[in-house]
This record gives sequence, structure tokens and C-alpha cells, in this order.
Amino acid sequence: MSKRPSPVSPTVDFDADGIQHGFLKLPISTDESAWGAVMIPITVINNGAGPTALLTAGNHGDEYEGITALLKLSNTLRAEDVRGRVIIVPIMNVPAATAGKRTSGLDGGNLNRSFPGNPDGGVTEQIADYFTRELVPMCDVALDLHSGGRTLDILPFAAAHRLDDRTQEAQSLAGAVSFGAPVAMMMFELDATKLYDTAVESQGKTFVTTELGGGGTTTPERMAIAERGVRNFLIPYGLIEGQLESPAGQQVYVDMPDASCYVQSEHSGLLELSFALGETVRRGDVIARIYDMTRTGSEPIVYHAQRDGVLVARRFPAQVNMGDTIAVIAEVVDSLER
Ligand SMILES: [Zn+2]
Repeated sequence: MSKRPSPVSPTVDFDADGIQHGFLKLPISTDESAWGAVMIPITVINNGAGPTALLTAGNHGDEYEGITALLKLSNTLRAEDVRGRVIIVPIMNVPAATAGKRTSGLDGGNLNRSFPGNPDGGVTEQIADYFTRELVPMCDVALDLHSGGRTLDILPFAAAHRLDDRTQEAQSLAGAVSFGAPVAMMMFELDATKLYDTAVESQGKTFVTTELGGGGTTTPERMAIAERGVRNFLIPYGLIEGQLESPAGQQVYVDMPDASCYVQSEHSGLLELSFALGETVRRGDVIARIYDMTRTGSEPIVYHAQRDGVLVARRFPAQVNMGDTIAVIAEVVDSLER
């Protein structure tokens, strides 16, 4: 059954030369605005022949490193610097960012669990559908900037996924490496079905995702990684000129072969992690203790690492509930190619 056209209307012309700042307008009707619209800011830069890059952030509303980096890029990238087309959407899920949350303040939707989307669904599914059917088909390469948000803190990395199409996988991996974060990763997703990543990859595009920090804030160090990475991403495709800027130290390659990389809590309480982000962990090491906050005199629950590796992500708030991911241990490898 064919879907109706997207209800989203752009105020920009994707084929016009030069730089345009506008909006993707999605009609809504709420208590605050009977005939209103969600206004998703967008910048389109067109200058001559070349590929199209789609740069996105704010897929989750509380992941500020990427949002800030793309807002800055939209103010600084000039049309004469570009060969081809760059489409910048710094805040995909505006209702989530407005609420300062991961998920939408309008319908509770988690945009990155809503793809491929639905023009007749809720606001979040309607945003996903516009990307899947309108924006993604326009692009050759796509970069989606995430970080840990309020509940995770993540060692800054750019990543690709294992794909059936080896050429597409290699091109995506090359993009993740040239992003120039301290870590480049082959990422394993707990459930990839409804991700934007999967929607883009299934259209055969080169796709790079990132995790650039977290905790619901930014730091100067992580902003520098995000801003450098966004420019680095554009250079290999000839979209902008320049030399790739490398991270300060040697770039580390890490692989996540399977779900055992994720340490998830089976208890609720107060979390004490024994390792900092980036530290080396050995199988059997005590990685975390969880304390019962309701009483004194009880021993903590001890969690041991199930594999060797490096701590690439951790729960950010100290309070932890059953099911929360408390740590992610990835394997350091010499090469990510297969
Ligand atoms: Zn995210």
C-alpha cells in the first residue's frame, strides 16, 4: 500500500544555488497552538556539481555536542567553500530538544526508534518518514551526530556498522576513520530495526554515526572533536577543501563483536564504577558495585567484566535501575577491515 505524501513542507529550495536557512514545517494542533507547526531548522548550501552530504544531530534532544557543532557550522560554512551540496539539520527532533529530553515533548516518541516512520503516525513518526522518503534519497553520504545524553557518558567515537554490502561497509568505515575522533568503531546495536542508521544504510548510502560525549552537556574538548570531525567528514568527498585533522594521539580502533559488550544492571541502587572511560578492562575485573540505598550493613552487588577491552561508555547518573546499561566494553583491534 503506497503512503500518502509527507505532511512536512520545507521553506527551502533544495536545488537553488547559494546558502539558505529555513525550516521543515510539520503541521500540529495542540492546546498551545490549534493551527501550529513544528519548525525544524535546516540549512541548504549548494555550489556547483558534486555529491550531497546530509549532516544531522538532535535525533535525540539532549545530545548537545552534535547539535552545537551543526548550529555553528550552519553559521560559518560559506557557499563558496562548498563543491556540491551540504544539507544541515542540527535538531531533527525539535520537540525533544525543546523539552530538553531524549524523547519528544509532544508525543513521547524516540525518533531513533521510529524509522522508517509513517506520514499518518504521531509527530515523531512523521519526522522520521520525511527523512526516509525525502531527505535521505537526496544524499550520497550521511553523518548523524549522537552522544550519550543525560543518562550515558561515552568516549568520543565515530562508527560504522557491519553491512551485507562490503563496499558500502568499507566506504562507511572510511568515513568513520576520517572523522578523526580519538576512537573509530565498528558498532554493534542492541536493536537496529527502527534506527535512522538502518533507514539510511538500507538506501545504499555511506553512513557514519558518532557518540561524542554525554551527560546532557558539552565540554571544550568534546566540542573540538565534534567540530573537527564534521569538517573532516566533508573533505574526502571534495565537498570542502582542506587537510584532514588528526586526533591528538594515535586513533584507537575498537570493535563490538556482539551484545556481550553491554553490561546491563539486574539490580537497582547506587552505582560505583571501578574504571574511567578509556581505561583498559580485563575479563573478570570488578567493573561496578551497586549499593542498596535502603539500608546499611549490606554488601554491594559486584559486576565483573565478561570480556577484555576498553571502557567506551558508562551510565552517567549514579542512581541505577534494573535493565540500565551501566558499562560498554569494546575490543581494541589493529584493524576494522575484514
Ligand atoms: Zn542519540
